Amino acid sequence: MKYERNRHSSDSDDMRRSYRRRDSSSDSGRNDSPESRRFRSRSSEDLPDEDMLNNPDGLNEEPAMHFDFDDDDVRYYRRQSQEKAARRDARSQERRRAEKAGAGNTKRRSRRRPELDEDAIGGEETVMYGIRNKQHTNKEIMRVTTVMLVIFFAMIGYFLYFNTAQSKTAVYNQHNSRLAKLSENVVRGSIYSADGQVLAQTLQDADGNYYRNYPYGNVFSHVVGTSDVNISGIELSSDLDLISTTDDTLTKLKNQFTGEKSPGNNVVTTLNTALQQTASDAMGSYEGAVVAIEPSTGKVLAMVSKPDYDPNSLPSTYEAIKADTENSVLFNNATDGVFVPGSIFKTITTLSYLRSQGSLDGFSYYCSGSILLDSDNGEQQYLHCAGGERHGQQDYADAFAYSCNSAFAQIGLDTGTDQLTETANSMLFNQDLGTSFHTAVSNFDLTSEDTDWQIGATAIGQGRTTITPIHAAMIASTIANDGVLNEPYVVSEVTDPEGNVLSTAASDGTKELMTADEAETLTQLMEGVTDYGTAESMGYHSYTIAGKTGTAEISDNEADGYNAWFIGFAPADNPQIAICVLVENASSYASKYAVPIADEIFTAYLGE
Ligand SMILES: [Zn+2]
Repeated sequence: MKYERNRHSSDSDDMRRSYRRRDSSSDSGRNDSPESRRFRSRSSEDLPDEDMLNNPDGLNEEPAMHFDFDDDDVRYYRRQSQEKAARRDARSQERRRAEKAGAGNTKRRSRRRPELDEDAIGGEETVMYGIRNKQHTNKEIMRVTTVMLVIFFAMIGYFLYFNTAQSKTAVYNQHNSRLAKLSENVVRGSIYSADGQVLAQTLQDADGNYYRNYPYGNVFSHVVGTSDVNISGIELSSDLDLISTTDDTLTKLKNQFTGEKSPGNNVVTTLNTALQQTASDAMGSYEGAVVAIEPSTGKVLAMVSKPDYDPNSLPSTYEAIKADTENSVLFNNATDGVFVPGSIFKTITTLSYLRSQGSLDGFSYYCSGSILLDSDNGEQQYLHCAGGERHGQQDYADAFAYSCNSAFAQIGLDTGTDQLTETANSMLFNQDLGTSFHTAVSNFDLTSEDTDWQIGATAIGQGRTTITPIHAAMIASTIANDGVLNEPYVVSEVTDPEGNVLSTAASDGTKELMTADEAETLTQLMEGVTDYGTAESMGYHSYTIAGKTGTAEISDNEADGYNAWFIGFAPADNPQIAICVLVENASSYASKYAVPIADEIFTAYLGE
């Protein structure tokens, strides 16, 4: 029974090995003592064989053979045990004496492993456990080594797999701190304009510290953005490309040891340096935005937001700029600002009217300077034309060119709430614009509960309607491109440090927002605006500009000023550029604020 318990309490292989070891040690000092007899009786031929170990019942057939202690044995073991204890006492006294004497070998001796103690070998248990402990230790080492090897190879495998296959998708998560880790090992790449100018680059100061440099300072501040304290713009949207490298895994590994950094990839944008500079200069100290798009491709040629900031000094000025909530300098008005559109919305109202009536032919309206409409407070209220102007008898083209509010309030009523809403939604109001960069959602809100006054106000771009400048530019671009919107984009290529193209980007997609006929009708109306209407000051160019102005009231208080808008494209018969200009807080009409800026932009891009 004792043996059986042992078998169950320890590994059978261990047990067998320990028996064998005892057997061989007994060979060297064979005598007739009960101890030696015990060893001999447990010679290899007596060892439980595999079957027996696996079959405890089989052992029970001869259990007494190994465990039949008689009185002599007991006495012998007791004596041996006493002698052993005496020897141990003597040894420890000797050790203590040596320690007191400060003998150098005391320490070494005290570290001796018990199983190597020659005196102890005579004791069966000591030998047995000594050897077993050693074997146990060896086995653990093997086990730990195996586990370590498995982990090591798994890590190597994962590292190679991650670097070749998974890195791009895994890292795309903006919240992934791996981005920060990657950027530590890579010199962030440069951002170029479409004409090859450096818009952002990484330089090293005299102490060898890397820093981000923006050669054009304020000019590209919002669209290019910054990468340090307030990651934004292209620095944000192309972050992964800029901190990715074409260095192979071995080079990257080597760099980790040498501390060198791999060069990051570069990003080439669609931005036109001269046009961006012109737009920024033309805006001057005005607040607002300029967006210019190439209609046939969707390339963003320029994107300015004012007020702007110098990205070179942002790391030190960031806290102060952030604290100045009044000026919102870091806010990108072009993409994230929503503004009352005013009369540029008459393009949408016209499209809606076209869709409800089928044609503009036959439209006739006599403008006496205002229109009386049922208002929200249950009374009738006048809706005026700008500046109290009386436009008299007009066809549709005149009403559009002069931007007659009275006529368009009537057009809105003729069209109806449902059609206005449907058309606005078809022109991407109340939804994500689907661009590759973030934009706010433009709002159009009209219900069957609304009064005629509210419908009239909405038809002229007031009411609850708001729009982003990028969206307004997209509408101009769609009309310019026969009704098809090429979704705007700002990054066209990713290149390696030698300039080899790694990937190219184009418009994210096209959307047919209106028919070619609808676009043509709108184009003709917009040509009238620059020919003899509110933007006739642009009529001098050698090419025709199609455009629409807007002067939006942002409150009942005139001191709050207006949103002065211009949207348009040129040349009208072969559009190369579509633009939106917004000047906030203008004290007068769009023709005095937005139109001259638009004129400078067209001139810079297309000449006089
Ligand atoms: Zn009028």
